[in-house]
Amino acid sequence: MTVASVPRAPLTAGATPKSDDKLSKMKEIISDTNNNDISMNDDKSVSDKDLDQYINHYNEWKQSKAGKWSQELVERILGTKFDAEIKWKNVAMIGGLHFITAALFFVYVWDSTIITWVWGFIVGGCAGFGVTGGAHRLWTHRAYKAKLPLRIILMCCYCMAGQNSLYDWVRDHRIHHKYSETDADPHNSNRGFFFAHVGWLMLRKHPECIKKGRLIDMSDVLADPVIQFHEKHFVALKLLFTFVIPSMIPWYFFNEDFVLSFLANCLLRNALTLNFTWLVNSAAHIYGNRPYDKRIQPVENKAVSIVALGEGWHNYHHVFPWDYKAAELGNYSTNLTTFWLDLFAKIGWAYDMKEPSKDLVRRVIHKYGDGTHITTPIAQLKEVPEPDATKSQ
Ligand SMILES: [Zn+2]
Ligand SMILES: [Zn+2]
Repeated sequence: MTVASVPRAPLTAGATPKSDDKLSKMKEIISDTNNNDISMNDDKSVSDKDLDQYINHYNEWKQSKAGKWSQELVERILGTKFDAEIKWKNVAMIGGLHFITAALFFVYVWDSTIITWVWGFIVGGCAGFGVTGGAHRLWTHRAYKAKLPLRIILMCCYCMAGQNSLYDWVRDHRIHHKYSETDADPHNSNRGFFFAHVGWLMLRKHPECIKKGRLIDMSDVLADPVIQFHEKHFVALKLLFTFVIPSMIPWYFFNEDFVLSFLANCLLRNALTLNFTWLVNSAAHIYGNRPYDKRIQPVENKAVSIVALGEGWHNYHHVFPWDYKAAELGNYSTNLTTFWLDLFAKIGWAYDMKEPSKDLVRRVIHKYGDGTHITTPIAQLKEVPEPDATKSQ
């Protein structure tokens, strides 16, 4: 769909008067971490006028001299056509992180002590759990409920991942599920692996994304005091948990060289954590099989599941997004998030864990799967023979 054809849609009534108060209060403290420049958050606070202004800006840039030059440059370097404005600040930050990490990796990081490596592994695991168990399965999909101590742990872990604010993460992911593989999908995999992986963070969002974002109900997220605290102190929390604590611990307690500690934990570990998350949007939408629904793009990808703590069983997840396991099969080794959630469920901090019945999953596999499910040959057999009409007569 071209930008010019994006129709204007009226704002939905959505929120109740009480949550309206909360929304307007939150609007003051939610920063535009997606760097959209014209001061808009793609949620219900975006008016029709804001949207028109955004679309005009989006179109004008494409026709401008700088726009045409940027498009040519990207096409020449990556061989891919991108027709949206580049967010140079994000390119510099993300590109810089990866360039410096790669350049220094072989020079310095190998000199780190084993303690620093183990610590980096722990921080990476915590960050991953904050993203998968918190932002994803709890706050986006409400696949289970969590008591306050667990929500605080998840929020702190999430802050170690160095990603956008929780509010932005949840909204983007809810749009992704509702409008997968369309212009409204923030990381639409039809725009190529690079775009789905990281390119989407470097480009201005498609207007459809802003428009459909207004239809997403975020009142449940805004009502959580833990999210409110996170939004209010987002930058400070990100700096503290992504950079300060991870680099200070090995230096202060284990006599690690501070520069090495910083390089290993703030650059290498951070870059790996980010890429493991991004693989769910790219590889797990492109490389794999579709045993649960062959009509959709997401796939099952074991490698992604291992590095992303169980989030690579993505064909299943898009069919049953409310399953707290985000997978049907596999064990804890390919779904570490489920291991931790089951553990927290044992002490009562996680509860109301949702999952579909085995029968429902089996029927879905049989009806929509691509025939690659491990049980498919059995599932396709008629377990109960059809009654013989002639005999019964
Ligand atoms: Zn997806
Ligand atoms: Zn999801």
